Amino acid sequence: MLLGLLVACAEPEQPPSILLITLDTTRADRLGCYGRRDAGTPHLDALAARGVRFDRAYTSAPITLPAHASILTGTEPARHGVRDNGSFDLDASVPTLATRLGESGYQTAAFVSAYPVVATFGLDRGFDLYDDDLPEQESATGTVIGERRAADTLEKARAWIDQRPADRPWFAWVHLFDPHSPYAPPTEWAERWRHDPYQGELAYVDHCLGELFDRLGRDDRLYRVLVAVVADHGESLGEHGEDTHAFLLHDATLRVPWLLAGPGIPAGRTITPVVRTVDLVPTLLDYAGLASLPGVSGRTTRHLIDGDATEPPRPAELETWYPRLRRGWSELVGRVEGSTKVVWAPSSSTPPEAYDLSRDPFERQSTDARLGAALPILERLQRSTALRSPSSTDPPLDPEVERQLTQLGYLSTGGITAASDRPHPRERLPVLRGLAEVQRLIGAQQLERASALLDRLEAMAPDELGIDLNRGRVHRAQGESDPSALERAAAAFGRVIQKNPRHRHAWWALAEVESLRGRSEAAAAARLAAERLGPTSDR
Ligand SMILES: [Zn+2]
Repeated sequence: MLLGLLVACAEPEQPPSILLITLDTTRADRLGCYGRRDAGTPHLDALAARGVRFDRAYTSAPITLPAHASILTGTEPARHGVRDNGSFDLDASVPTLATRLGESGYQTAAFVSAYPVVATFGLDRGFDLYDDDLPEQESATGTVIGERRAADTLEKARAWIDQRPADRPWFAWVHLFDPHSPYAPPTEWAERWRHDPYQGELAYVDHCLGELFDRLGRDDRLYRVLVAVVADHGESLGEHGEDTHAFLLHDATLRVPWLLAGPGIPAGRTITPVVRTVDLVPTLLDYAGLASLPGVSGRTTRHLIDGDATEPPRPAELETWYPRLRRGWSELVGRVEGSTKVVWAPSSSTPPEAYDLSRDPFERQSTDARLGAALPILERLQRSTALRSPSSTDPPLDPEVERQLTQLGYLSTGGITAASDRPHPRERLPVLRGLAEVQRLIGAQQLERASALLDRLEAMAPDELGIDLNRGRVHRAQGESDPSALERAAAAFGRVIQKNPRHRHAWWALAEVESLRGRSEAAAAARLAAERLGPTSDR
């Protein structure tokens, strides 16, 4: 009896349960707690008020899968190896927050809302339950995997949390995708935010989170849980000529909200030095009383939360390989140290840029990075860039698929020649906008106007893959009334594939056109290649 009592007394306190919420595509400056007026985000603002708000948190990459891999592993893409959506997956040797918490006795579950983070891509390791049950639709140009609304994802998460026994800690990761384009919030929010549907999506997500927080708060559970809210990246919303994200490295897409509340976290504190989303894993493990993961580049932010600013902040390392891997443009790398940010397109001839974020927070005026305070930062960036090229290229095509395709004349044997002077993504963004307009014209059956616009875009950027892709789409649409146009469509899609055999949209489109032409063997081969490269997906 006495012994039992002693054992009970000596038993260490149970570590806190952890709720990690990742908001896809959420700009820090669009939340009320980051200064936005009439943001419609009262529940996130309330969370910030009862915990800490990191004012200058940087994600590692403005793309969903690499950014989430960094959040969950505490390492940058150069170390965890995931450089893009869809064609990379997290290596089984990389430990994650979920694997560490699982080993430490936590019950673990993830509830995700969009294709880029489904289990296929390796973020599921360490989770007892990985709920990626997303609506799926077949379309003429491939399989489209839909997104799940915040209310549906959170309902699943709430049900799981409700079933947890009191005597074991749990870890739930909830990924909410609503703010990603296209911006189409449910009716109530669409009406209220008619002129700013992106903000409407954020307000809708906040509303859904409010329901979860209220529910957990009713029996006081919420206050015993460590709650972290962070975004994978922001959204450019037209700034710098970029409409969405993934192409550039400006703060519009790299600076993200990060809120933290729960046991041991002081209320109402704002942390102003630069922190990184790779610091999230070490911070959560620190507050859970667990050792950090081996080899992480992030570090705990507890000293900052406790008000100790003696340790110098670590720089934020930024990258995007999306322009290079998807479009053949230069990749971008960047570094933020204090108020200086340097961005460089190492495969282009464009000079590196520097921004003084204290005087120019919207990065309107770049200076030469080879001047003043930016020079040593540029030198450090250049030294680290060698470490940053993707450790593996895209996986090769299945050899049998490749053989069939070569036989059918779709693949040239020479492969793609490496360009040494690639375009800077910023130079090509106007072409990308033009291509979006071409797609709108095709949808509206204005095919002659679409063709004329493609001619103008080709004069601006003759080597741009999207031009042939959209020429194929125009011919495909012309094929409705003139079957001979289908041959021209197949030829156009074939040219895209010649230049980039991993262009899955071109493969899906070619499969459809060959099928319409009655060339079933060619259609089957193209469809096989398309399926090997995965369903259509976004960022
Ligand atoms: Zn994302």
